[in-house]
Order: sequence, then C-alpha cells, then structure tokens
Amino acid sequence: MGKLDGRVVIITGSARGQGEQEARLFTGEGARVVVADVLDDQGEKLAKEIGALYVHLDVRSEADWQGAVAAVKKAYGRVDGLVNNAGILRFNSLVDTPLDEFMQVVQVNQVGCFLGIRTVAPELADGGTIVNTASYTALTGMAAVGTYAATKHAVLGLTRVAALELAGRRIRVNAICPGAIDTPMSNPARLDPAADPEEMTRALDELYRKLVPLGRIGRPEEVAKLALFLTSDDSSYITGQPFVIDGGWLAGVQVI
Ligand code: NAD
Repeated sequence: MGKLDGRVVIITGSARGQGEQEARLFTGEGARVVVADVLDDQGEKLAKEIGALYVHLDVRSEADWQGAVAAVKKAYGRVDGLVNNAGILRFNSLVDTPLDEFMQVVQVNQVGCFLGIRTVAPELADGGTIVNTASYTALTGMAAVGTYAATKHAVLGLTRVAALELAGRRIRVNAICPGAIDTPMSNPARLDPAADPEEMTRALDELYRKLVPLGRIGRPEEVAKLALFLTSDDSSYITGQPFVIDGGWLAGVQVI
C-alpha cells in the first residue's frame, strides 16, 4: 500500500529540482502525478520515465492554469492534491532592485501560488491537500534576496488564509520552508553538463558546514519526504502551518 494510492496530485515546477524528487516519490507512493512546468522537454522526459502526465503550465498565466486543470480532469476525472513548488530567485539589494525584477519574482512566486490555490481549490475532492513551497526566508530576513523573501512571506499569508477558508471541505493547506537545498536554484553549476554533480555536492557541504548546525546542504529528496507527509493522511490533523526544513539554520546563531 502506498501513502498516496489513487490520489491525483499536480506538482508545479517539477521538471527538475525539488519538484522532480516530489514527482518521483509521490509516484512511488501510488499517486497519479501531474508534472507541470515551463521546461517542456525536461518535464515530458521525466513524465514518460515515471508514468506521469505532463502539462505545460506557466504559473503566472490564468489561461495555463485553466488548461492544466481541464487536462488533468480529462485524464483522471479528479484532482486530490496540489504542490505549488515553482519558484525563481534573484540576488540584489533592495535599493538596487529594478521594479521589473521585483515584479518578475512576485509574478512567479506569489501570483503563481495564488492562481494555483484559486484555480485548483474549487476542483479538489473533499479531503484534498495543498502544499505551498515557501522558504526559510519566509520566516527571517536574508540580505540580497529581499524580493524573494517578500514573496515567500506572502506565500505563508496565502497558506494560512487558504487553510481557514478551505477547512470546511476538509482541505488542508500547509507550507514547506526549506533552507539551502542542493538544486539548480542554490547551485546553478548543476545545470552545467560538464560538471561532476558529486564534486559539486561535496563543495556545497563544505560551504554549509559552518553555517548550518547539521553541517551540510539539504537534499531535494529530503524536502520531497516532507511534501509527502503533508500530502498524505499522516498529517491528517495539520493545516495552516509552516514546516521548516533547514538543518537547524533558523534555530539561532552559534558564537563559539
Ligand atoms: P529549481 O530552479 O531547480 O526548480 C524550480 C522549477 O520551477 C524549475 O523546474 C522551473 O522551470 C520552474 N519554474 C520557474 N518559473 C516557472 C513558471 N513561471 N511556471 C512554471 N514553472 C516555473 O529550484 P528548486 O530548489 O527545486 O525550487 C523549488 C522551490 O523551492 C521554489 O519555490 C524555491 O523558491 C523553493 N526553495 C528552494 C530552495 C533551495 O535552496 N533550492 C530553498 C528554499 C526554497
């Protein structure tokens, strides 16, 4: 018996990174997964490999959301879960951030999450789940990622309000707050076909050895397990909450 047997779950931004690992783990737990992304070649390849449905979905687009939900209902006749995982990061100090750049990040991270909730929640079967991917920076500040942090704080606001508004239909809404995770977002060298992934991971572990109490960068497979917990009945009495997965980074500073 899988933890998600028979459930239909849409995962945005799942062509690579954390979303990809969520798609793999959920499929292994019996879910019918919908891989949704703007990276069509990668998304289609993954979907074929794991036996999922691929849909092109730019989370900024209302029309794309409507098309994606229609395709899922046509294929499976129902939707039980949504993981709002798609996101982008830009590095800049607030005073140097052009408005266009600020709005780009808002459109993907914040508007994308809002449109996902608004479009999918009415279609979710009673007892469905929504997991929003926020960040460590949804709960604290971090210099040079002000735009990103603002959108991730907003994702927590959306999570809490959606949890209140959807509880009557037993739909649970929670948020994941990862610290640094070894994906192309934190480690763009992962996109270099000539680079050695094992060597990159060792270099990142070394970088985070002093920063993070558990002494290493997180793995996308670890985040996927948290997403599984929040999508499955194992979390049946939990809604409206942020879940930090950061190796202890947010626990405090170490002075010795
Ligand atoms: P990633 O860059 O590997 O994956 C992001 C995915 O989102 C990609 O597949 C990308 O194509 C997709 N995407 C981007 N814009 C999109 C759009 N407009 N519509 C649909 N899909 C789009 O990074 P990741 O680490 O796997 O990121 C997943 C989530 O985790 C993001 O929300 C990110 O903000 C969050 N997060 C990541 C870290 C980290 O250190 N990697 C830390 C905290 C939170």
